[in-house]
Amino acid sequence: MTAKDSVLRALRAAGQPICDDCLAPLTTAAQRRHANAVCRELAAMSAIARAHGVCGRCHCRKLVNEHVAGHRTTAPTVEGRAQRPVLLTRTGGSTAPFEERDVQERLVAWLRAQGYRIIRTADTSSKEHGRDVVARAPSGRELWVTAKGYRKKTPSTSPNAQARHSVEAALLDLLLWRGEGNCDADLAIALPRGRTTYRNLMSRLGWARSALPFTVLWVADDGTVTPELPTDQ
Ligand SMILES: [Zn+2]
Repeated sequence: MTAKDSVLRALRAAGQPICDDCLAPLTTAAQRRHANAVCRELAAMSAIARAHGVCGRCHCRKLVNEHVAGHRTTAPTVEGRAQRPVLLTRTGGSTAPFEERDVQERLVAWLRAQGYRIIRTADTSSKEHGRDVVARAPSGRELWVTAKGYRKKTPSTSPNAQARHSVEAALLDLLLWRGEGNCDADLAIALPRGRTTYRNLMSRLGWARSALPFTVLWVADDGTVTPELPTDQ
């Protein structure tokens, strides 16, 4: 399938205007710059409409693409996701503590290895508020991350109750960041992998990720990171 077919199919399946950033992960034109070039070509051919509007996925006001009714793709549309969901084991949940600063450190090392440039990291020990990691992707997009750990049991709180509070705080961060109107950054929550409470909460919050697209970066104790994109939901 050509990149053009892939974009046309994704827009047709979406049935609503979508910006280049939200379109890229839905197509084989995985890189934003590529999606942008393909959309401009398609618009020049009048195969799609391209204009300023509100994106149906991220709800940002920007250049959006829309399928033109009556335009046929070269092959029948295949419904569903272009990208396979990341498979994460649900069994064998760990209850081992995982400090927030360790999650952050491993994430930063992994991002560097992926070609990201680290713009800033927060001092998690000082309980500094705000973005825990700001990085620039090789594509030029900024990534804003809120990182959470998994605490050990204390006399007053269970690790699971603390994990719930961490997710509440992380979601508030994301809502406020998106509310600042910055649509030029991708948002992510970094969480310890293998902790059942986090896994369950994130799968139950899958529906919300179409309104507030964010990536979950599952950080393992050994430093491997598994990104779960908004479109994996
Ligand atoms: Zn969008």
